Amino acid sequence: MHELAITESVVASVRDRLGDARVLAVTLEIGRLSGVVADSVRFCFDLCTEGTPLQGARLDIVDVPGGAYCRGCRSDVELVDLIPLCPCGSADLDITSGQELMIRQVEVA
Ligand SMILES: [Zn+2]
Repeated sequence: MHELAITESVVASVRDRLGDARVLAVTLEIGRLSGVVADSVRFCFDLCTEGTPLQGARLDIVDVPGGAYCRGCRSDVELVDLIPLCPCGSADLDITSGQELMIRQVEVA
């Protein structure tokens, strides 16, 4: 499961920065085009944080909509799924948002 590896690396990078500080909450930004399923991350978070200073921390997930610039009709379009296709029919798109997976904020006790 791909989300397990992702969640493990999120937990590892928080611990890298903060050591043994007790963590109360983690805010993650997950782009809609990242292919990462927020519910799976939530599930894995409980597993990955067990026995660490992050145990019991709240996980807030910010859903980032997908966006792209279409070279066909020269406009910004919103992408609702993983298929980059503009309503004008062009697939010549530059993805501008929605692929991120970022730790936005960590709240420490
Ligand atoms: Zn277009």
